[in-house]
Amino acid sequence: MHWLEKWLLPSRCVIRDKPSEQLDLSSELVASWPVPESVCPCCCEPCSEASAGSVCGTCLLNPPAFDRTQVGFYFDAELVALLHAFKYGHQMAYGRILADLLSSRLEASNIDALVAVPIHPLRRRERGFNQAEQIAMPLAKALRIPLIRGAVKRVKNTPSQTHLNKAQRQRNLKRAFAVEAERFSGVRRIALIDDVITTGATMQQLAQAIKADTGIDYVESWAVAKTK
Ligand SMILES: [Zn+2]
Repeated sequence: MHWLEKWLLPSRCVIRDKPSEQLDLSSELVASWPVPESVCPCCCEPCSEASAGSVCGTCLLNPPAFDRTQVGFYFDAELVALLHAFKYGHQMAYGRILADLLSSRLEASNIDALVAVPIHPLRRRERGFNQAEQIAMPLAKALRIPLIRGAVKRVKNTPSQTHLNKAQRQRNLKRAFAVEAERFSGVRRIALIDDVITTGATMQQLAQAIKADTGIDYVESWAVAKTK
């Protein structure tokens, strides 16, 4: 940030409403959020330190359509408040804050392009924006990786998934996405971006649809936060 801009508009933590160094979030607050350390690389579920880096039993038994999951944090009350304000409180600017937080935690060197998880046009109209896209745009810029826009569409307006279990969510999401294969030409390895990962059912369905319809053979799923 330019020094004058910084002097005129000093950063303030949007959660604690106190001055902060640069992120619009206090660094102490961010440091208190739980980060994935010992995890299965495929699904990012926590595991013992000894088995960190090896694929977990669940993924071995039922290999997901995505090849790797990377998230910034596990859910924490204040992070959930921030995500909630971003998604439902029309705080679109928080997308950049979340992208900043995420970008420093990702290993992105083998990814050719990013794709934001789409929401149904009706939901987009209600909310005014797609939260995943608002994170993916600044993230693409920070990582210098192109963002492929409009190549996947949500064709089924699925009801809120919050109260469904994993099997119900997967049924609910069947044929939920349409893929424009030609938009992926020349791209082999992508990362799907969402604000949060809960059961992973959305990522699973979208990765499956993209791999089935295009030449993409490697998909990572990325999100700011994940349930533990
Ligand atoms: Zn796993």
